[in-house]
Amino acid sequence: MSPMMIAIDGPAGAGKGTLARRLARLYHLAHLDTGLLYRAVGLKMLEKDDDLADKEAAVRVALSLKANDLKNSALRDEAVGNAASHIASVKEVREILLTFQRHFAHTLPTDKQGVVLDGRDIGRVVLPEAPCKIYVTASPEVRAERRLKELHEKGIDSIYEAILEDIKVRDARDQTRKASPLCPAPDAYIIDTSEMGISEVVNKACVYIDATYPKAYKHS
Ligand code: C5P
Repeated sequence: MSPMMIAIDGPAGAGKGTLARRLARLYHLAHLDTGLLYRAVGLKMLEKDDDLADKEAAVRVALSLKANDLKNSALRDEAVGNAASHIASVKEVREILLTFQRHFAHTLPTDKQGVVLDGRDIGRVVLPEAPCKIYVTASPEVRAERRLKELHEKGIDSIYEAILEDIKVRDARDQTRKASPLCPAPDAYIIDTSEMGISEVVNKACVYIDATYPKAYKHS
């Protein structure tokens, strides 16, 4: 069997990260959360007080990224996600990060059966050759509620309306940028998770993946 290759895309908070982690465990796949790359560039720029609109500064930071930069716990901060979506519209930054993503996808560790990458442009740009492409979506309201719950669980006080507004602004920026705007690949399998729990989402994805890779070894 050729190595498995799964591309997962979708807007912020739709559940693509959780799905990708579950699939990685289930099918023994190396997993790359590609949003971390954009977040790492955004975080470094925030730390250096760089202007997020400064394309040359963004390119310099992207070129200087090291694997360790992806391990910073501050990457998950809301402000870093927003900074990431700003610099993600810079074509040259995307090209630099594309090389990293493709290298990851084509350098398979011996104990893995394949790769799963999640992000915004995996199915259309990073791995258009992936036999399995999943686009995970959910209404902005449901995504805002999930985010609110997550923040409450971390003990962070937040306001639903502010989160919803943030999500809508980030969606609009990701969907309308010129460089690789967020939208499903024409051959993507679309899962709307608005009214689904994670088990149902994983089950649906597995039925789709198993049809493409019937011989894949899978944890029960
Ligand atoms: O998925 P996450 O919220 O971590 O992504 C942060 C930002 O990085 C997104 O809003 C998007 O602008 C950008 N991104 C991207 N392409 C990817 C992954 C993330 O443009 N493949």
